[in-house]
Amino acid sequence: AKNRGKNQIAECTPGLRSKVEVTVGMMRQLLRAQERNELELFYQPQVCCGTGAVVGLEALIRWRHPEKGMIPPGLFIPVAEQTGLILPIGEWVLRTACERNKAWQDAGLPPVRIGVNLSVRQLQNPGIVDTVKAALRDSGLEPRYLELEITESVVMKGTDTIETINRLKELGVYISIDDFGTEYSSLNYLRSLDVDRIKIAMPFVQGVEESRKDRAITKGIIVLAKTMGLGVIAEGVETRTQLDYVTEHGCDEVQGYYYYKPLPSAEMEELLRQQGLS
Ligand code: C2E
Ligand code: CA
Ligand code: CA
Repeated sequence: AKNRGKNQIAECTPGLRSKVEVTVGMMRQLLRAQERNELELFYQPQVCCGTGAVVGLEALIRWRHPEKGMIPPGLFIPVAEQTGLILPIGEWVLRTACERNKAWQDAGLPPVRIGVNLSVRQLQNPGIVDTVKAALRDSGLEPRYLELEITESVVMKGTDTIETINRLKELGVYISIDDFGTEYSSLNYLRSLDVDRIKIAMPFVQGVEESRKDRAITKGIIVLAKTMGLGVIAEGVETRTQLDYVTEHGCDEVQGYYYYKPLPSAEMEELLRQQGLS
């Protein structure tokens, strides 16, 4: 039976075969990457529209590959999700983000909230509640300084995931919907989930100069969030016009290259330090 399995792989289309090989190869390298401390977090500042102050950060994973250089998450997170490696990697991200943020606070820097991306796969695992609890306890970070970013697609995974999110919420952490408006489940989850804020997906924000539709959608999302008593942040703000548009319509915060790209830990710390002095 073992041999037959082998032959089946050999017989399948070259495209599929190479895809399997690439995934398995990448998985081996990712396993080693974690052991060798090649994974690293960058931090992208989130800026208050009213004051221009940095009020939050999003932790974004990078893989510092010894030969290939810095690999962005888009190239390895999908493999981590397919292979289940996202569970140990995701736990490392959570712990590292909590520890870093607590260390900055302990150093006397202005306290900020830190956002961590959670994959659907992590949320389908009920153990995630204990994982988050342990990361908070071990780091000493207060729950209100941790934000968990989830995507709309989790709600399509059913009531168990919704239950898990509500239990996370009970820990006192902040919950936000990432890439709002880009997935299938529409608005129904806003009724079933108790979230704190919405992150307006990049394509809408970046379309405000060119597209009447994107302007309407962006404004509509801000109004929806505010009417529901939720916070709202615009992602991918790259221009002054985009910043002005969302600010005028009542958006709380922005995140994007107009202000800052994701920064390595040392640069993030320096930025917080400067802000503390001003
Ligand atoms: P995301 O959660 O939507 O993160 C925002 C992405 O947009 C980041 O890309 C960020 O660098 C990029 N970005 C921010 N501002 C701008 C802008 O003004 N213009 C443009 N063009 N891009 C901007 P990045 O770091 O490559 O991350 C891509 C995705 O990978 C993330 O999208 C998230 O879905 C995933 N990801 C990153 N880190 C993690 C992680 O620790 N765990 C999990 N599960 N997923 C992660
Ligand atoms: Ca995110
Ligand atoms: Ca996003």
